[in-house]
Amino acid sequence: MLLDRDGVINSLVYHDDAGVIDSPFAASQFKLLPRVPQAIRLLNDLGLGVAVVSNQPGIAKGRFKPEVLKACERKMLSQIGAEGGRIDCIHYCLHHPEAKVSKLRQRCHCRKPEVGLLEKAAAELQVSLGECYMIGDGIPDLLAGSRAGCRTIFIGRWKCEICQFTDPGVRPAFVAKDLWEAAHFIRSEVTGSAGVTSSPKCLSAEA
Ligand SMILES: [Mg+2]
Ligand SMILES: [Zn+2]
Repeated sequence: MLLDRDGVINSLVYHDDAGVIDSPFAASQFKLLPRVPQAIRLLNDLGLGVAVVSNQPGIAKGRFKPEVLKACERKMLSQIGAEGGRIDCIHYCLHHPEAKVSKLRQRCHCRKPEVGLLEKAAAELQVSLGECYMIGDGIPDLLAGSRAGCRTIFIGRWKCEICQFTDPGVRPAFVAKDLWEAAHFIRSEVTGSAGVTSSPKCLSAEA
């Protein structure tokens, strides 16, 4: 399973000074969303590998230092681990086409909606991309997932307006309120059990 980080595992942060909603810029701002460790444990218990695939252009943009990303990572792993959940691998894209930090300024193959991160993670999990679900709260996550041949799950509220602007191929297999709901949907699919109500009408009608 391929999980986006911000908005899926941890909450987005409103940065007063910059007036933006973005990733945590300090480890103290890193907060897990509800039921995330339990959701990850559920995926572990199904025998599914769990990878994080995350665009993190904050270093490139000069928003924070590499140490902050590491500290957030330690916090994420220890808080998830404390509840018995396990993340098998983590892959970041640190690049940005307009980065201030010159060595990170590039058009790479890893920044979602490109598929490089997903390919690396699937290789490390030793699964094919066709067996993976890409779970994210942004259109780039869905685009990367569908380009890579994954099933996709959107976390958040799917607005019908989004449908009008997105390629039918990009529409997710399922819309979940949070990772816990997504994990239950995956369980229902991999075990063939029923009981999970499906996505909003605008999605299912076109499925
Ligand atoms: Mg996100
Ligand atoms: Zn990259």
